[in-house]
Amino acid sequence: MHLVLMGPPGAGKGTQAQIVAGRLSVTHISTGDIFRTNVSSGTPLGLQAQRYMDAGEYVPDDVTNAMVRGRLGEPDCSAGFLLDGYPRTLDQVSELDDILTSLNKRLDRVVELTVDREELVQRLVRRAVDSGRSDDTEDVIRRRMDVYQEQTSPLLQVYATRGLLVSVDGMGAVDQVTARILDAVELPGG
Ligand code: AMP
Repeated sequence: MHLVLMGPPGAGKGTQAQIVAGRLSVTHISTGDIFRTNVSSGTPLGLQAQRYMDAGEYVPDDVTNAMVRGRLGEPDCSAGFLLDGYPRTLDQVSELDDILTSLNKRLDRVVELTVDREELVQRLVRRAVDSGRSDDTEDVIRRRMDVYQEQTSPLLQVYATRGLLVSVDGMGAVDQVTARILDAVELPGG
């Protein structure tokens, strides 16, 4: 199974992606986690990505696309994957199409987690306190939400037109949301 999980910052993407990938036995690929690992180990990729992440901006498409292309070609992706935080721009949608074509694969579902804005802000402020993430300050949180609106929300229409999009209510307890996602990705006859 090949899935994409989308949703604004604070929607619970990371938490749900990890659980759902485990339940479906597919590889969880979080571009944010890969960037953060590279930042903390000081690789050239990390050095390139850090200033964008700290400002709440997206890392440039050419950098992100090359990284994802490499990752999806690794053996642990052959039995299926759940992409968490990619694609985020229209350019990345085209790149993903291209990568999948070259691997002779296609997306099965794109899941959008929906959470109302007030709840999102509260969650992000809580996470800022708990995690110490450098992109969880209030200004950066606001910027990340605007960037999502501007650059990523148009992707929802693209995937809806392709008949791949399912929207899942991301409000409520973690296990309730997981159950909704698993329901939503259950494939006919699968
Ligand atoms: P996340 O953990 O998914 O919220 O990602 C954290 C940060 O990593 C984002 O705010 C971006 O700076 C960067 N990032 C993650 N995924 C992407 C992507 N697909 N395109 C560009 N930047 C990304």
